[in-house]
Amino acid sequence: MSDGKIQLIQTDITTMNVDAIVNAANVTLLGGGGVDGAIHRSAGPELLEECRSLGGCPTGEARITKGYCLKAKFIIHTVGPIWEGGVNREPELLASCYRSSLQLAEDYIIETIAFPSISTGVYGYPIQQASQIAIREVRNFLAKKSFFKQLSFVCFSANDLHTYQQNLQK
Ligand code: ADP
Repeated sequence: MSDGKIQLIQTDITTMNVDAIVNAANVTLLGGGGVDGAIHRSAGPELLEECRSLGGCPTGEARITKGYCLKAKFIIHTVGPIWEGGVNREPELLASCYRSSLQLAEDYIIETIAFPSISTGVYGYPIQQASQIAIREVRNFLAKKSFFKQLSFVCFSANDLHTYQQNLQK
């Protein structure tokens, strides 16, 4: 069972000492609020410069940049779906964010990676459903042969942590 590689932690993702942190970005990749804003503030202005050169990212896909002033060497920017009641392919798009991010990480031989709870802030995806998708996709990926040594789910609130904890026990 590959669950031994999954860690659950309540902290600010910008403090994580891992090869890559994942950013819940928006389609412009030019920064925003929530975790995106925190990552841009901590990484410094060079991040925005590199992001400008990428020309945006469609929902469900991922792009990689350097980590600049972060401890993390890389930032994987992925664009989660905005929750519209679940009728607009949100589950499929959210699953695609996790898969695309993991695939990109593997391409860069990243061994340790930390994910925030994509789409569950301003984008309004219900945490219960989103965490089930996150856990399912990560487990599926880890079940294949992969380089990952550790994968962290970073929760910002105690409530999110509790939800992930319960779903990881299933
Ligand atoms: P989205 O637009 O994808 O919903 P948000 O940044 O609004 O992105 O929220 C995604 C999740 O990230 C939420 O659970 C939010 O509480 C959490 N979050 C916000 N700031 C941080 C941070 N510094 N570290 C980790 N998680 C954070």
